[in-house]
Amino acid sequence: MKRGILFVLSGPSGVGKGTVCAALRGKQPELIYSVSATTRSPREGEQDGVNYFFKTREQFMRMIEADALLEHAEYVGNYYGTPREFVEKTLSEGKDIILEIEVQGAIKVREKFSEGVFIFLMPPSLNELKQRIVGRGTESQATIDHRLSVAVEEMNLLHHYDYAVVNDEIDQACARIGAIMTAEHCKRERF
Ligand code: 5GP
Repeated sequence: MKRGILFVLSGPSGVGKGTVCAALRGKQPELIYSVSATTRSPREGEQDGVNYFFKTREQFMRMIEADALLEHAEYVGNYYGTPREFVEKTLSEGKDIILEIEVQGAIKVREKFSEGVFIFLMPPSLNELKQRIVGRGTESQATIDHRLSVAVEEMNLLHHYDYAVVNDEIDQACARIGAIMTAEHCKRERF
């Protein structure tokens, strides 16, 4: 059976990866979403198993030891990781899957899945990114500052990606990602 395509949507925190993914969900119902594990506490409204698998540090460390994560990264004091088995099972069933992860993790996935498609979501400007992180209203000032300084470093890693998509307007960004997905399928078309 033809394998599915692994898409990785990455980019700095606050750029709108979650919003774009949620919008894509409506537009691409056949696309499967990978739910990450994290040691971060749930934000209001977030559900275990839906937004993340919320883990203690001990549980997360055990997942690393058991090689249950495709990649993991420490980001602003918490661990985040992609459960391996679900990704491999989905691809082997011929379905496409999308990972919404930060930049270090994406670079690690690239080392293992060179055939994956790596999309960097960019803010229209750094100022705009700052407004989005502040505007979310869920983080302390120290966390906002930390996320912003990480974001500036992350913007310099754009060259690791196949595509850059500016998230100026959500529908436009989704349309560009949809076009990338179509193109990648056309690229792999065989008799
Ligand atoms: P947040 O705390 O805002 O939900 O996520 C913080 C950052 O972690 C975001 O950039 C998000 O994309 C990233 N992230 C979420 N899940 C994963 C994952 O499984 N692996 C990695 N490396 N990053 C992740």
